Amino acid sequence: MSDKYQDPENVDEIIEELKSVKNIEGVVDLIKRVYPTWILYYLRKYSEDYPHLQSNWEFYCTKQKVKPAHIMIVEEFLRDDKHKLIGVFAELFTICGFIVRSPKDIYPCDNCDCALPSPERFIQMKESGNIKLSINEWSSKCSKC
Ligand SMILES: [Zn+2]
Repeated sequence: MSDKYQDPENVDEIIEELKSVKNIEGVVDLIKRVYPTWILYYLRKYSEDYPHLQSNWEFYCTKQKVKPAHIMIVEEFLRDDKHKLIGVFAELFTICGFIVRSPKDIYPCDNCDCALPSPERFIQMKESGNIKLSINEWSSKCSKC
């Protein structure tokens, strides 16, 4: 595991600066300055093959009184004491309606801008037995694509 996204020495300074940022664009600008390669790309929504993922997201957003923004795919997302700043940014994006995930969790559909769970997450979902999936095998595309 790389140390690329560990907290920098001036982490407190950055958190102070973050407090004066007025909108989400400002937060994106700030994180691009601190970690230029962290945000990889954005996806519009979850694939229709996984309606429970989409409805969980929409439910959370309704509770937060925000509109679902985008699914933000980031290079690496570690949640521990050495990566507090990444956690602060991710939380901010989340309360503003974003989903923040790494490529370990989410794959882009080969054909459209929808999000699919990674093969590993698909297997976990299937094995958990909690969710009734409409598809049996993981695919790199939505079933209608
Ligand atoms: Zn698709």
